Amino acid sequence: MKFKLTNFIKKYFRLIVQILFFSCLIFNFEYGIIIWGLFTILTLFLGRIYCGFFCTIGVYQDWVGNLGKKILKDKFDTLIPRKTSKILSYFRYVVMTAWAFFATSFFTTNIMGKIGSPSPNAIVNLAFSREIVGVAVIISFCIFTVLSLLVRRPYCKYFCHGSVEAGALSFARIIKLKRNPELCTNCHRCEKICPMNVPITNLETVCDGSCISCFQCIGSKGCPKKGALYLDVKPLKNIFKRNETVFGKILIKKINKSI
Ligand code: SF4
Ligand code: SF4
Repeated sequence: MKFKLTNFIKKYFRLIVQILFFSCLIFNFEYGIIIWGLFTILTLFLGRIYCGFFCTIGVYQDWVGNLGKKILKDKFDTLIPRKTSKILSYFRYVVMTAWAFFATSFFTTNIMGKIGSPSPNAIVNLAFSREIVGVAVIISFCIFTVLSLLVRRPYCKYFCHGSVEAGALSFARIIKLKRNPELCTNCHRCEKICPMNVPITNLETVCDGSCISCFQCIGSKGCPKKGALYLDVKPLKNIFKRNETVFGKILIKKINKSI
């Protein structure tokens, strides 16, 4: 079979990015303000891409989930019915409120902070520290590991306060995921692969705050119908066009003045 770089990127790009960022955490690389700023800009363009590609706890859940899928096969991710899952997802707002109110408390800075960024090194160190924070982190980590074997991305769906903030930002995203109802055959393959249970087939613009922009629905195992599900880059093109016109006009004015 002929090797095609585009196919390779389509199939493995996300995995490569995930491995890279997971390795950064193992080597205790800390994201500075510039990297966080870049992630915020990326969210404005592509939605919650940080959650889909870069978040280490998300990556960990994906990998444990893959194992769960191998063990449970069709029973994987059927434990919590969709409607219950939607209701449970509101718990993230409770966590976010608690986070906002008790931002400087022992609970949020020590326990939540460490659960939210569980570097493998930190977890191992905490496990040997015998501190109460360490015990709480280890217990939470074990609970989410077991849950991830049964359900896809449980931490992101029901617990992560960051997902609420990023979800709100992603409603304004410039490049939107769209479904063309005329081409869509309602095979529901996109929904089956979606880790966040986004009701894609009910939507034309998939601008659901729970979408983590993992793009699995349009990847090699996603939508089989060409053009049915796509990334709408037109608004981005328009921005460039507009800027070009404005820039062009200013430039022409300057040139005219100088003659
Ligand atoms: S809708 Fe698509 S891009 Fe969004 S979370 Fe689901 S699979 Fe990923
Ligand atoms: S996988 Fe594609 S064709 Fe099938 S329901 Fe989803 S958008 Fe429609």
